[in-house]
Amino acid sequence: MKAVAIFTGSELLNGQTTNSNQTGLGRELASCGWTISRAEAVPDGLDAIQDALSRALHEDAELILICGGLGPTADDLTRSAVAQTLGRDLFTCGETLAEIRQRLSGRTHSEEHVVRQAEWIRGAVKIANVQGLAPGLLLRVGHSRIVLLPGPPREFLPMVRDGLIPLLKAEFPPLLRSAVLHTCGLRESDVELKTRPLLQEFPDLIPAWCASLGAVRVTLSLPAGREAELSAAVSYARKLFGPDALEHDSAAAECLELARRRKLRLATAESCTGGLIAAALTDVPGASEVFVGGFVCYANDWKQSLLQVPAEILATHGAVSEATALALAAGLCRFAECGVVSTGIAGPGGGTPEKPVGTVWIATLVEGRVRSRLLQLRGDRKDIRDQAVTHGLDSLRRHLME
Ligand code: ATP
Repeated sequence: MKAVAIFTGSELLNGQTTNSNQTGLGRELASCGWTISRAEAVPDGLDAIQDALSRALHEDAELILICGGLGPTADDLTRSAVAQTLGRDLFTCGETLAEIRQRLSGRTHSEEHVVRQAEWIRGAVKIANVQGLAPGLLLRVGHSRIVLLPGPPREFLPMVRDGLIPLLKAEFPPLLRSAVLHTCGLRESDVELKTRPLLQEFPDLIPAWCASLGAVRVTLSLPAGREAELSAAVSYARKLFGPDALEHDSAAAECLELARRRKLRLATAESCTGGLIAAALTDVPGASEVFVGGFVCYANDWKQSLLQVPAEILATHGAVSEATALALAAGLCRFAECGVVSTGIAGPGGGTPEKPVGTVWIATLVEGRVRSRLLQLRGDRKDIRDQAVTHGLDSLRRHLME
């Protein structure tokens, strides 16, 4: 199936907004075996949207997704642009109008704005908007399906997942079934090597690897109808990867689950990651059952006063050292039974020949036992900090698994 995605909004072109909807859309479609063959971003404007839609229709795309511009303001022009391009009527849908009014009851609103969001293109099928007001629309035009979706990510992603995907499954049964395996702590090339025996065992399997700063996502696909074989392949892959494969989709979720099973409280002490490890942990729903808190101890006196790192260790070895990392981990014992520590040089300044930028010490604590790990990371400040988070959580995960 040829799918073309059109993202509307000048803010996507002038660097004000990252096109995160494209990532989310691609991921959701891929999980059902469809891929976007082409995507473009266009500025707000009737002509730009009409031109983009005409191009996609010209290419014979079976699925054309137009994302954004369904809101109430004068620059939300997607419905008008699509109606004009297709030569279809645009009218106010009474049912949608009543529904929007009901959802707004008790809140002040402009009637003009409500009416605009209830505009309907003749022949459209509704896609419910649980998080917002303007519904999504699906139109059948020859063998193409044109889908109009809202721009705000908090409306867009639930609509794609819960509204669009079920509709598409009915319209275009997926040709492939896919399963995703998350690995952590391996390079993409190592993941590829580890996957080789899997492909000998399951020769029709289509693998895809996607690396992101310390983690690699492996997508395994087989033609629809061979689900039993796909689940056998996933089981075999899990055996091949052993502890390098995650049960959940992130090392943070895995740490929380392992600590929960062992009834351990989890805490963090972070220097170079500045709270990012705690943020990754608290990103997981239900983290509060396990995670008790985190210290961001940048200055040496905080390391000493809050986590009782001895002054001699800091004076002799420096803040970025194995001894300091281990002492920080030992200091966490007063607050939790397991935890993770980071101390490193994220750059761009601060590196020395002995401790270049990217030197990061990780230490983990599990029931009184502490252990350290040296990372030599590359990239800019953000890359180094993000990798330190992944490797830090991966180190704790492995420690907790023992
Ligand atoms: P509304 O105007 O009611 O907010 P809409 O459907 O008209 O909804 P847009 O006006 O296109 O949507 O976008 C609303 C906001 O959503 C934008 O300001 C932007 O912050 C965000 N947004 C839009 N498109 C994207 C995108 N592709 N990726 C990430 N954020 C987006």
